[in-house]
Amino acid sequence: MSVDEALAREWIAAVAESVRAEAQHLTDLDTAIGDGDHGVNLRRGFDAVTTALGGLEPASAGDVLGKTGTTLLSKVGGASGPLYGTVFRALGKTLRQGGTFAEGLQAALDGVRQLGKAEVGDKTMVDALSPAVAAYASTEADETDAARAAAAAAKAGAASTVPLTARKGRASYLGERSAGHLDPGAASTALIFEALARVTARANDR
Ligand code: ADP
Ligand code: MG
Repeated sequence: MSVDEALAREWIAAVAESVRAEAQHLTDLDTAIGDGDHGVNLRRGFDAVTTALGGLEPASAGDVLGKTGTTLLSKVGGASGPLYGTVFRALGKTLRQGGTFAEGLQAALDGVRQLGKAEVGDKTMVDALSPAVAAYASTEADETDAARAAAAAAKAGAASTVPLTARKGRASYLGERSAGHLDPGAASTALIFEALARVTARANDR
């Protein structure tokens, strides 16, 4: 099994569903240490993605993920729009060029770090994305295991942001007052990998 068009579409649909279900939670997290729009931003973005993919002719997995990225880039404001746009565009581009999903995830992480200049420990989505990408790569041979490991790593990475003081993004304006709160972008990254694990396990059962 590999990430084909159907699985890519299922993944993005599952992310859209999670984002809708968790929008209030994500916004509450962002209210504590940001400007309270993260859930709203992502819900608007993934609603637009759902519409865009509905109008997309049969396409490759790379096309589906690339379209997801360009739509997020154009519809989601704030820091997270360009960052998540970069994630899905890099994944799409890598797959279209014949690369593996693990290589696509690495390209996504590289793109986010280049754009946002955040490293692990800065209390951003990178704290969830970086360990997830590493976990996926280390168990790549079995995609179900890889996605499950990535989801667990993203969740642990997100939880690790709680005690941290933010050094990037809006939360960094709060200085030490940002400590004691879960980073909203790390939380949404964990949702994205949780959705991947869910759809991958389901596809494997078929
Ligand atoms: P904004 O902060 O512009 O309102 P969002 O609320 O949608 O945007 O997203 C905030 C999230 O974006 C943060 O919780 C953090 O995870 C992520 N983020 C912000 N700046 C950066 C950065 N420079 N690098 C990586 N992630 C970042
Ligand atoms: Mg915000």
